[in-house]
Amino acid sequence: MTQMNFTDKTTKVAIIANGKYQSKRVASKLFSALRDDDSFYLTKKNPDIVITIGGDGMLLSAFHMYEKHLDSVRFVGIHTGHLGFYTDYRDFEVDKLLDNLHSDKGEKVSYPILKVTLTLSDGRQLTSRALNEATVKRFEKTMVADVIINHVQFERFRGDGISVSTPTGSTAYNKSLGGAVLHPTIEALQLTEISSLNNRVFRTLGSSIIVPKKDKIEIIPKRLGSYILSIDNKTYTHRNIAKIEYEIDHRKISFVATPSHTSFWERVKDSFIGDCDS
Ligand code: NAD
Repeated sequence: MTQMNFTDKTTKVAIIANGKYQSKRVASKLFSALRDDDSFYLTKKNPDIVITIGGDGMLLSAFHMYEKHLDSVRFVGIHTGHLGFYTDYRDFEVDKLLDNLHSDKGEKVSYPILKVTLTLSDGRQLTSRALNEATVKRFEKTMVADVIINHVQFERFRGDGISVSTPTGSTAYNKSLGGAVLHPTIEALQLTEISSLNNRVFRTLGSSIIVPKKDKIEIIPKRLGSYILSIDNKTYTHRNIAKIEYEIDHRKISFVATPSHTSFWERVKDSFIGDCDS
């Protein structure tokens, strides 16, 4: 990687692509264009802009790579398949992206992310951040857990598990679970049940619950054993979870606000409705 005339005005750019042939091809084109342009400096260390090439999964991975740098980094996604939820450009729009990067003045659109704090029964605490959602499921048997919302003991859940999603994650797993689609400028979290047991003996609300920014969700498993915790596209197994706390993080994820930043409702329509007779 060579660099000439590096100034404060040079934009540091990281390019991250998945292993697909088409993504590598796009990455190579972008790499050549930016390498030969004095306005940009290609580096994976402390970039100002991270360009992901692949799909939403690639953007999720890049978010986790740079989650400690959210205050200084902006993301932009190129999709090598259909238009994604976190990707503004298609693979044939590299020139358009380059034009937009040249006229970029640092504008951004920012969306809330989820902070998850896991407390194990020995007192250890682990903190993670999710862009889409965090789910907890019990490994061997029905999960039994108390759900506490803003210090109110709300319900005792029995079933497969619970998902807590961000607004941008509301169109992902949350939607498959019957949750509502939330505009990403609404700072809220959504709790969605995964196959709850509901009968004359056991009762939960059944519908998804949307809680505002100031409220905290706590889940207290009532049985020891193994639990599977998923944070976006990563999965972990933990034994003996005492408590899981969910709240909106004080930081947000920011995207480059180029003229091609697609409106949220366009994305929802494109992904789930498509063209239909009026
Ligand atoms: P993946 O690549 O198989 O992604 C699954 C699908 O989810 C892809 O089509 C992707 O475009 C889409 N997706 C991702 N984020 C989205 C979003 N915010 N809104 C709408 N669609 C979105 O798997 P992965 O890369 O490991 O992605 C992990 C994500 O997959 C998880 O965060 C979860 O939301 C989702 N997921 C969905 C289900 C389900 O719908 N039943 C089950 C497991 C995971």
